Amino acid sequence: MLVDRLLLGPGPSNPYPEASQGLSQPLLGHLDPEFLSLLDETNDRLRAVWGTQNPRTLPLSGTGSIGMEAAFANAVRPGDVVVIAVNGLFGERMVDVAGRYGAEVVRVDHDWGRPIDVQRVLDAHPRPRLVGAVHAETSTGVRSDIGALARAVHERDDAALVLADCVTSIAGIPVEIDEWGVDLAYAGTQKCIGVAPGLAPFTVSERAWHSRVASPPTWYLDLGLIGNYVSGTDGGARVYHHTAPTAMIASLHAGLGRILDEGLGEVYARHASAGQRLADGLRAMGLELFAAEGHRLPELTTVRVPEGVDSAKVRTQLLEEYGIEIGAGAGPYAASVWRIGLMGHNARLDRAEAVLGALAKVLG
Ligand code: PLP
Repeated sequence: MLVDRLLLGPGPSNPYPEASQGLSQPLLGHLDPEFLSLLDETNDRLRAVWGTQNPRTLPLSGTGSIGMEAAFANAVRPGDVVVIAVNGLFGERMVDVAGRYGAEVVRVDHDWGRPIDVQRVLDAHPRPRLVGAVHAETSTGVRSDIGALARAVHERDDAALVLADCVTSIAGIPVEIDEWGVDLAYAGTQKCIGVAPGLAPFTVSERAWHSRVASPPTWYLDLGLIGNYVSGTDGGARVYHHTAPTAMIASLHAGLGRILDEGLGEVYARHASAGQRLADGLRAMGLELFAAEGHRLPELTTVRVPEGVDSAKVRTQLLEEYGIEIGAGAGPYAASVWRIGLMGHNARLDRAEAVLGALAKVLG
């Protein structure tokens, strides 16, 4: 039997009702003109949420990690130097993926729970092909300043590309791809966008597009081939590449519509106030927040498990007795930190109160 959970972990979050309705529309074929105009409109909506005019903006078929793969596969040739700022699990994953595509990876390690240090990342190599960093580290609940990083990289070397992981930031905190000068960025649908997992919104600057790998070592993620379907060839025709997940794209279209109708500023403010309420409530219970002060994400709060408390037991009790899912910590903090997400449709004061109330009862 399926149960209805309140998904307050690091994602997925409960979808916006509009996104669920979008998913249950009559199915369209991937070359149906009705569907293609919905896809065009979805890409326009994505541009609004990304803060970009990039014509190459699209949802890739797959979860957030496919965006990471696509970025490295299409931007990096074997032997290219890639600098990665690592301040958590997803920076670590970037190192792994870049290496698999043959990059010579220079990693810049930071303490988990701290934002990236732009100067250290800049000093790691004088002429990298690409510099990558995670905007919102879901493993620690930390926001890094991608705008400062991109400006610093481009001021020094206009040819270097900047890659940003925006899986947990998009539609939760401001993302300004064009203003910041980010060349490649990927996201996921299942967090602040408030749509089920399954698509990876992706955007590429014209600079990155024109210097891309001609024939990447992956057919499925070849952005040139996918572009012939999503935007059409030079002659304008849309060419089949793979069967686009039309129901998921209809859901994304509806979810983005919901966000833009509310207004991006209002959506960010809603995340900020819900996150603040949760952080204040946790501190009032005597709990200690994990992420560095001043760099905390409103959409994902990390909190230390109190001494002597069994982290997994508390999560199980929250799930079984209150129907609330929260996340364990990640990596070395798996048992000593909890991750509580208030993302998308769940970025609301009543959700913050619900988890605070349940946690207070479970902790006694
Ligand atoms: N990057 C970040 C910051 C994430 O939080 C996640 C997922 O939680 C990913 C990448 C990978 O996304 P997915 O699990 O959707 O493949």
